[in-house]
Amino acid sequence: MDLTALTATDIRELLTRRQVSAQELVRAHLDAIEQRDKEVRAYLTLCPERALEKAQQVDALIEAGEDLPPLAGVPTAIKDVILTRGVRTTCASKILCNYIAPYDATAVARLEAAGACVLGKTNCDEFAMGSSTENSGYFPTRNPRDLARVPGGSSGGSAAAVAAGMATVALGSDTGGSIRQPASFCGVVGMMGTYGRVSRFGLVAFASSLDHIGPFGRSVRDVARVLGVIAGRDANDSTSADVPVPDYEAALDESVRGIKLGIPEEYFRGLSSEIGTNIQKGIQLLEKLGCVAVPIRLPHTEAAIACYYIIATAEASSNLARYDGVRYGFRASGYRNLREMYEKTRNQGFGAEVKRRIMLGTYVLSSGYYDAYYLKAQKVRTLITRDFLEAFDEVEVIVTPTSPIPAFRLGERLDDPLQMYLADIYTVTADLAGIPGIAVPCGRTRGEPPLPVGMQLLGKHFDEARLLQVAHAFERGGGFEVA
Ligand code: GLN
Repeated sequence: MDLTALTATDIRELLTRRQVSAQELVRAHLDAIEQRDKEVRAYLTLCPERALEKAQQVDALIEAGEDLPPLAGVPTAIKDVILTRGVRTTCASKILCNYIAPYDATAVARLEAAGACVLGKTNCDEFAMGSSTENSGYFPTRNPRDLARVPGGSSGGSAAAVAAGMATVALGSDTGGSIRQPASFCGVVGMMGTYGRVSRFGLVAFASSLDHIGPFGRSVRDVARVLGVIAGRDANDSTSADVPVPDYEAALDESVRGIKLGIPEEYFRGLSSEIGTNIQKGIQLLEKLGCVAVPIRLPHTEAAIACYYIIATAEASSNLARYDGVRYGFRASGYRNLREMYEKTRNQGFGAEVKRRIMLGTYVLSSGYYDAYYLKAQKVRTLITRDFLEAFDEVEVIVTPTSPIPAFRLGERLDDPLQMYLADIYTVTADLAGIPGIAVPCGRTRGEPPLPVGMQLLGKHFDEARLLQVAHAFERGGGFEVA
């Protein structure tokens, strides 16, 4: 039996029947990482002792005949922008090269309390700024489906780890698409809940009004299970929502008959034709399952990228002011005074994309430009949100491609930031509106090797259960393999 191909659901069954131990599962994954990660390079830091200690606890529960928590023994990867107590947390930045987190993020604490075994920290774009994981301050990660291509980003390491059997599930973060886009490039499931659904306590801030933590998995059920564990109010994050968390798995098998799907015209322009064909086939499958597709309009979509890159950079410029060489991580040497210490530390510690964003964000917030850029972008954000709210008066779920293109080659877009930013054209809108979204595999391209295509489902605020239900029906109906 290939222990690295199991889902969290399989794992629970095998553990309960005592056909495998949690320690065997963790060891199998550590072996897989040793072999496969030489090429893929999904992990920045491993914490085998921590994973094995948790596995021992799970095995002791089994031995004692106790009930197992929902993620017992599940090998899990954590994006390196999420704090893990006692383990290096770098945000893939040189400026945090030696930073050891003093506490666990709430999402990590909840996963471990549910029995998950944390294997290590995954690579990403520096401070989650990017769409390909090439902006990592350490090394790029490669797409396990084609090593010449990027895994997407910024949570590329988490997506690649799950796709390559180096973790069963993983956590990523999504500010403008960083869970859904890499999920689609790597052919796995990735989900972002409603803004506030999952606590951000212990998530290193990029753009606080847009940041989310969310799960990756190889099945919709696994993603539902992880979301159920990490979701819910947290006293340590005042923006976490006090909205009851339903039993996501219980809703999965309900019929999708009669569910209205909105198909927004704006998301099907300028699409690579192969992606368009796959998504159309995916929609046809959902119709066969009983959903009703309705054309809708989301007229402010074309302003989304501009709006996002103003708001996200503005917030980033403020959030990243804290890396001054005094309080966290790296400090440059050879300075003559305090000001020079700040300058050298930030100059040597941050990569080019992070610097670009700090400059852009500082500019749009500066007096004289604030009204013209930042305030205007906030107004556009409201219009984009309103588009969605109006659409959701008519439909329950919106179906779009996740990205206009499949995984591109390493280096292909690195010199053209604008091309890189356009990789998020279909994902940033949901972050701006605060609505939940899930990306599921939807067949492959016809090239050699075939590349995964992703379909995105967007839902009403706090209606994650509906998204999971439709995604699950799609998976069961063969949608992952459509076309
Ligand atoms: N690619 C987008 C950006 O570069 C989104 C990043 C994210 O979601 N963290 O900002």
